[in-house]
Amino acid sequence: MRKKLIAANWKMHKTPEQAQAFVSAFLPHVWEHTRDEIVLCPAFVALPAVVEATRDSQIGVGGQDMFWEKEGAYTGAISAPMLRAVGCSHVIIGHSERRQYFGETDETVGKRVQAALEAGLFVIACIGETEEERERNETEDVLRRQLSVLAPDDNLVLAYEPVWAIGTGKTATPEMAHEAHDFIKSQLDVPVLYGGSVKPENAAELLSRSSIDGALVGGASLDLESFTAICRAAIRS
Ligand code: PEP
Repeated sequence: MRKKLIAANWKMHKTPEQAQAFVSAFLPHVWEHTRDEIVLCPAFVALPAVVEATRDSQIGVGGQDMFWEKEGAYTGAISAPMLRAVGCSHVIIGHSERRQYFGETDETVGKRVQAALEAGLFVIACIGETEEERERNETEDVLRRQLSVLAPDDNLVLAYEPVWAIGTGKTATPEMAHEAHDFIKSQLDVPVLYGGSVKPENAAELLSRSSIDGALVGGASLDLESFTAICRAAIRS
């Protein structure tokens, strides 16, 4: 059975104390879960607490973004060596919220991904179309454009996250996700996670698809019961 990757994107939620409490409660549920990879991506300030709390487990820890320069006069930014220094194994890059609210473009996503890979991080690079783009039948063009800045790498994983499904409760049907994943894999041969309102009720069906190599989970990863159920669904898939 192929290994799936379940990544939690906690966005701007959970203080270090709350993050630590989540991990302490979560670990006993996934203690024996070694078949799949689980990665927690807290806010920057909670990274040390989560790294410490997951120390003797199989769970990876990732940043939610990073800048491509190693250091310098870039107020507010965090670099790949800094993420490595606090014990991160992974980083999410190009999330649609970074593109929407923080001016991230395909070009800057490409630079970040390259810098992260060079620093030895595993990268979860996010791509996906908006609702308007899907309605205009532009999904494949958008994905092709977003993929044009990326090259296959053993440490690169993509997350297909249709923007209209993120935090909206609307999930792509397994068929829609499968179709998009097949197209993405025809362009770039790397594992592809699905993201967009993944929850315990739909996780097993999505994860049972061979083209879906795991899930990037936002809202449902904040809740212990929901995230545990999603990880369990991956075990069964
Ligand atoms: C995400 O933020 O990557 C995401 C998929 O969010 P949600 O699961 O809340 O839709």
